[in-house]
Amino acid sequence: MRSPLIAGNWKMNLNRVESIDLARGIAQGTSPGEVDVLVCPTFVYLDAVSAVLEGTPVKLGGQDVYHESNGAFTGAISTTMLADLGCDYVILGHSERRHVMGESNEMINAKVKTALATGITPILCVGELLEEREAGQTQAVVESQIDGSLAGLNAEHVAQIVIAYEPVWAIGTGKTASPEQAQEVHADLRKLLSNRYNATSADAVRVLYGGSVKPSNANDLLSQPDIDGALVGGASLKVDSFMEIIAAAKTKAAS
Ligand code: PEP
Repeated sequence: MRSPLIAGNWKMNLNRVESIDLARGIAQGTSPGEVDVLVCPTFVYLDAVSAVLEGTPVKLGGQDVYHESNGAFTGAISTTMLADLGCDYVILGHSERRHVMGESNEMINAKVKTALATGITPILCVGELLEEREAGQTQAVVESQIDGSLAGLNAEHVAQIVIAYEPVWAIGTGKTASPEQAQEVHADLRKLLSNRYNATSADAVRVLYGGSVKPSNANDLLSQPDIDGALVGGASLKVDSFMEIIAAAKTKAAS
């Protein structure tokens, strides 16, 4: 049984006080249970948010990382630095990193390997552009992102990662994949992992859906059998909306 994970990606939003307040509100509303809750603030407020979350069940994650452990890499952040601040997770290959910052599958693959070596769980994001979906290429795009980003890893490694399926056309647009569209890709992803690695690893991997998840659609999306949680952008920036999505995941966990 895969326990649901609800992850908030705060992106380049919120100042220091707002980040602390949001983390405090989420921590106050979260009790230990069958749903894992994660927040990913911007790097510069990780330390402040980490202090708020200490001793609470809410986990902390980075929004990205560099693949080298230390050295002359101006502006970069390492996985050991994230671990030092109490991060258990790191988002890798988010569509904004792929399409705005130009990250390749090779770069993401190096980051996945470094994160695993440091004991930080990668949340590997994959997803197609609108034109790729319209051209019937969703499965091929997602498959090549998985193959490229997980190159060189074995079944044991793969069992430790989280995958987020995030159709690019649904991120921050208010458009959501229908529960059936999302379930179809999630099931294909699990089948792909089973073929490439083994059924045990494929069964263990949590596959999150991301793309305009909000309280009004969370129940329908999370009720799908292969949707194991959500990566949430906009709706993770307010305590109430994020807590409502967590409540939908609790319903799934209880069913
Ligand atoms: C995201 O940040 O990964 C995301 C899915 O954003 P939003 O929920 O705002 O679409």
